[in-house]
Amino acid sequence: MDLTVIIPAFNEAESLPELSAWIARVMQENGYDYEVLFVDDGSTDGTWSTVQGLSASDPHVHGLRFRRNYGKSAALYCGFERARGNVVVTMDADLQDSPEEIPGMVRMIREEGYDLVSGWKQHRKDNALTKNLPSKLYNATARRITGIKLHDMNCGLKAYRAEVVKSIEVYGEMHRYIPYLAKNAGFAKIGEKPVQHARRKYGKSKFGMNRFVNGFLDLQTLWFLTRFGGNPMHFFGTTGLLMFLAGFVMTVWIIIDKLVRQAHGLKFRAVTDQPLFYLALVTLVLGVILFLAGFIGEMVARSSTDRNHYNISDEL
Ligand code: UDP
Ligand code: MG
Repeated sequence: MDLTVIIPAFNEAESLPELSAWIARVMQENGYDYEVLFVDDGSTDGTWSTVQGLSASDPHVHGLRFRRNYGKSAALYCGFERARGNVVVTMDADLQDSPEEIPGMVRMIREEGYDLVSGWKQHRKDNALTKNLPSKLYNATARRITGIKLHDMNCGLKAYRAEVVKSIEVYGEMHRYIPYLAKNAGFAKIGEKPVQHARRKYGKSKFGMNRFVNGFLDLQTLWFLTRFGGNPMHFFGTTGLLMFLAGFVMTVWIIIDKLVRQAHGLKFRAVTDQPLFYLALVTLVLGVILFLAGFIGEMVARSSTDRNHYNISDEL
């Protein structure tokens, strides 16, 4: 099969018939052997009955329904697991992404050798203040931390070589960083394509401003896990050692200072009677705690199921 289109949908009933017809038209024009997979993420409107209707009238359409709302990452994860196409495309259900972009993205994967092609909503049709501006900042940070030069990391419209989606595990709210997950799994050729973007026609956005806070936190987590996930002691040990050394130097200084002053008959303060003493104490204790965290981290890393999971591409 050429192509699987995965569409996570949470309360998007009004949009689906139009979207499904539009996709079918584009697929037929390009002669793809394809499947469409709607993942109903625990919707409380008529999303599932709409999917049932679409599936009954078109054999290309399949559906998957969550018993409750798990989030977009979960929907994508289950979609990725079931995808049968050589190329996998994801898009939002709300008609903001255009199916007309699919053939161009598929071409980049098939002919230009890309592993992943992300859409870039160059002329974004969302609220300028609450979405477009924070999104620019967020993408600039993500570019720096991940080293992937994408303008729009979190675009819902993306195309993947099938191996990519089978090699990564999207969880929590990590759907925002799929290109980073792909890069960490060894897929280096990541590109982007400017895509059309439309205003939301029906329903309302499912993500509020807290997406940016959570997004930044998730980015820190991913960065940490990528750098130190396999050897946490390298992080905790280094910072712990630095802390401990700093505390040690301060302690030695305090003692020498006192002894020298005492020997020369100068005025001196009791060791516990100066601010530096408390600073030294805190730093020493923190250093020890960081070291202990490192040991615990090593135990956690050792028992992780993917401690020896490597992505092998060829074997002779
Ligand atoms: N979505 C989902 N589960 C959720 C939230 C959103 O499957 O818990 C889907 C939603 O139905 C849509 C896509 O994710 O197809 C993007 O959501 P939305 O359009 O609300 O995001 P925005 O365009 O505001 O970034
Ligand atoms: Mg949307």
